[in-house]
Amino acid sequence: MDDKKSDALEPKRLLEHMHVLCKEIGPRPACSPKEAAAADCVLRTLHNLGYPDVCVQPFKSNDTMGWWTIPLGLILILSLPLFFFAGRLGKWIASVSCLVAAENIRGITRVRRPFFQRLVARGRSQNVYLTIAPRGAVRGRVTLLAHLDSNKQRFTLPPSNPALMKPLLTLQIVYAALMGLVMGGASSARRRNPFLMGFYAVSGGMLLSSLAAQLNDERQPFIEGASDNASGVSVLLGIAEALRTHPLEHTEVTLLFTGCEEPGCTGMEAYLRQQRPPRDTWFVDVDNVGSGGVCYVLKHGVSYLSTYLPDAGLVEIASRAAHKNAHLGVSGREMLTVDEVATVNNFGYRGLLLTSYNQQGYLNNWHRVSDRLEIMNPATWSRAAQFTWAMLQEVDL
Ligand SMILES: [Zn+2]
Repeated sequence: MDDKKSDALEPKRLLEHMHVLCKEIGPRPACSPKEAAAADCVLRTLHNLGYPDVCVQPFKSNDTMGWWTIPLGLILILSLPLFFFAGRLGKWIASVSCLVAAENIRGITRVRRPFFQRLVARGRSQNVYLTIAPRGAVRGRVTLLAHLDSNKQRFTLPPSNPALMKPLLTLQIVYAALMGLVMGGASSARRRNPFLMGFYAVSGGMLLSSLAAQLNDERQPFIEGASDNASGVSVLLGIAEALRTHPLEHTEVTLLFTGCEEPGCTGMEAYLRQQRPPRDTWFVDVDNVGSGGVCYVLKHGVSYLSTYLPDAGLVEIASRAAHKNAHLGVSGREMLTVDEVATVNNFGYRGLLLTSYNQQGYLNNWHRVSDRLEIMNPATWSRAAQFTWAMLQEVDL
């Protein structure tokens, strides 16, 4: 690797991008002027690197995940009085509502938007993207993606003991479905049936505490998002600079900076729906590479009912790149995560996530106000950038 390219992927250069995103702009809520400022900053940086043809794609979205989770929680809570106090039709409506809510909760854990998305997509956001042609004829396409927005602090995603995340979310989905089945089965039962009374009390308590936790998350401050995901954005800007002087031979590279990942990957979805990239495109998502070890993800998911996998071909490429660049110490791991690779999969495309992990094997400071530039490790994001570069070289062989 010669000096110019290695400079672009060095910790010091990436830190310049990180500093602008984390300290000059700060927290970047979805659909906010700060998120737009981050998009503008990326646009200007790419222009300054000598890329005039950068595209901006506006789209509409919900601005927080609460617009998905809280209405579904309310549907479940309202089904209880409907079941107990309405007539037989009301009981059936309550039963079906619970089943629909259960399926929608499972859906949002795989970032499938809920049925009422049009009603809540009231904010405005944007994606920024740039396609860099290879020197020769195009034989392959890679899209590197990183999200611009940062989340609120969320004590439910993940809980303080991340090991509880999958059991808790799975329980919520199963319980919501169970409510629907019990209500359907008991539609002709007497109101004062002791079993139903107990069920009513347990369900009400669980639903109210879950709703309270969601409302508490919505009241939390937005985080600086140094790892999640100023780090990924900085890696992509480093790659843009490296490609300026060292374009690939036969691989077209698109750099995609998405808005609104945190409220449900709606920027990624808008990109796939509107831009319809060619089917053979490989998507490599760079997210949360701020500190700890760097890995590519072999199995994703935040509940046992919404697990998803990366593309096998991309895993093969990543594994070859890791083998050839053993000094970077990158390996494949199962991670507790939900990310834009889910959306890539939902639309039938092929994706892989590059991320980082702490000593317990989880994302560092995930959705906590402690996700700040001061405690990041520059070596981690530089290793992630060098590994991303190594994967591009591997694809271009
Ligand atoms: Zn992220």
